[in-house]
Amino acid sequence: MRQAIRTVLRQVREHSPEDFERLRQRVLRFVPLAKRYHVAGMWTRPHRVSAKWGYPGAWSQGVVRLYEAYSYKIALVAHELGHACTTESDYKRLGGGFDVEWEAELLADKYGYKWGFGRQISQHRKLNRSLEHHGLVPGTIFTVEDSQSISRYRVTRGFRIRFLGRRRTAAKRPTTKRK
Ligand SMILES: [Zn+2]
Repeated sequence: MRQAIRTVLRQVREHSPEDFERLRQRVLRFVPLAKRYHVAGMWTRPHRVSAKWGYPGAWSQGVVRLYEAYSYKIALVAHELGHACTTESDYKRLGGGFDVEWEAELLADKYGYKWGFGRQISQHRKLNRSLEHHGLVPGTIFTVEDSQSISRYRVTRGFRIRFLGRRRTAAKRPTTKRK
């Protein structure tokens, strides 16, 4: 894993010195995930601690947790560092008020692609990542259904979720019994 971290960081630095600098400020350390949970990596921020540090930007510092024995190390590290690098203004530029977690995953991948890890991330997505947690692919159209309507969304090439439209589902007729 150490090697993968080094490889990814070197490539980030080459592609975007600015992002590298942001990571340098934000990522306090890399910590092994002792056991594999439902995810192989996590970007966690010790809110309470950072609140005490009390300077702007402190909230954005955190720790990258990685499952050591994971097979897709490069994709994993790139993605988790993408989370770490995501800024508040990335969130503000999001359009739709769609599920924040999905959008956060897309933003993390967006950084990964920007740094040149698109191939690894897309391969990893095909092989191993679950839809809910990670795997939205740019270009995908998906629908979300509730009791009254079906909404359609598209994942744009810019890794955003765009609302396409909503249609009402046929209202169920109340079932009445006739005698
Ligand atoms: Zn993620």
